[in-house]
Amino acid sequence: MPETISSASNGRVPTPHDLDNLSRQLNRPVRDVVEIPARCICGNPLVAATAPRLSNGIPFPTTFYLTHPILTAAASRLEAAGLMNEMTQRLETDTELAAAYQLAHESYIAAREAIGERAGTGPVPEIAGISAGGMPTRVKCLHVLIGHALAEGPGVNPLGDEALAAVAQWWTPESCYCAGAWDNAAPVPHKDLSRHVKHLNQQNP
Ligand SMILES: [Zn+2]
Repeated sequence: MPETISSASNGRVPTPHDLDNLSRQLNRPVRDVVEIPARCICGNPLVAATAPRLSNGIPFPTTFYLTHPILTAAASRLEAAGLMNEMTQRLETDTELAAAYQLAHESYIAAREAIGERAGTGPVPEIAGISAGGMPTRVKCLHVLIGHALAEGPGVNPLGDEALAAVAQWWTPESCYCAGAWDNAAPVPHKDLSRHVKHLNQQNP
């Protein structure tokens, strides 16, 4: 489908091709993805932005979701190696780092509000002051921090930047690692019409 591939955008608004790719990357149908805030140099999504309120009405604080399988696997390796505890301990003693992480938390919430505005979601008071990934005082998910760092660029989330640097042996922004990372030949995980009922309580995008 060359026409679909050539239309693989580099913009923030997801194309149907992007949404299919996301579903393949995650091996489940994606829902309520409103923007692609970070892409591989080849154009494929790295991070999906989910609306702060899902179409079923549930508030959704985790705006930036890391989708690229190479990156998600790398983040899981770092988590398994104990990097989150190490970072959380540093936050307790390093006041400069803690202050920068607090700013990252505030930036996350501001970015979510902007995305909600662009997507027409409207205010979501249920998640006011809540970000994701353990921010502002802990580190509970490196996928969230790396997703935030990729979405917002360097200098916004210090621990996201660190985690991204730590995955360099598996993934760097300068190269494309998409070949073979997911199955492009497989059918797209189906956009089942009953999903709103079946997955009403599922909190993942
Ligand atoms: Zn790529």
